[in-house]
Amino acid sequence: MSFSSLGLSDPLLKAVADQQYTKPYPVQQEAIPAILRGKDILGIAKTGSGKTASFVLPILELFHRTKTAKSQSATVLVLVPTRELAVQVAEVFEMLGAHLFPKVKTVAVYGGVSINPQMIAVHGAEIVVATPGRLLDLLSSNALRLSGVEVLVLDEADKMLELGFAEEMDAIFARLPKNRQTILFSATLGDAIQDINTSLLRSPTKIEI
Ligand code: AMP
Repeated sequence: MSFSSLGLSDPLLKAVADQQYTKPYPVQQEAIPAILRGKDILGIAKTGSGKTASFVLPILELFHRTKTAKSQSATVLVLVPTRELAVQVAEVFEMLGAHLFPKVKTVAVYGGVSINPQMIAVHGAEIVVATPGRLLDLLSSNALRLSGVEVLVLDEADKMLELGFAEEMDAIFARLPKNRQTILFSATLGDAIQDINTSLLRSPTKIEI
């Protein structure tokens, strides 16, 4: 199994080679083709499994295939539990998107720092990686809209719930377009994750690593 057999185009294969990823990890072998087919994903996978590239690569591939002009608002929203993870995931989008043209703009937004620079940074970003609280703050100040979101990723969803973000997450879900692709990754599959699965995902492909 190689990255090229998973349906990725040259700019992404080049980025994968830059990172010296020689062979896709199991989670990538399953998630990449399914996401490219437009499937929702329920992924039970821990940090270290390669889960980040398993959603970043197909999302960037879809940009490569479909985007001709810059969109006016975010089309991909990635919700994460912590500032560290927001920065890390945005970096993976940047790294693996390095050879794409036109460039896909990714921004990380998180609490604990001043909101003003983030209000400017989200402008024109196609991919927004956010912690839930700060995203809601940005929405209430009209710094961004979610009406154009086509893909929602919940990364480390169990940790987001553990950190007490359930209400914020619900408030965000209520503002998202119903017609979208949803990708959920969690290290564990407890009742609360099952509830999100039932309410948000449509006949997901289940991946357990
Ligand atoms: P993650 O589980 O997404 O946090 O990824 C764990 C680590 O594996 C990161 O340092 C990635 O850069 C690395 N990685 C992801 N996919 C591959 C791959 N196919 N081959 C080698 N390393 C990889």
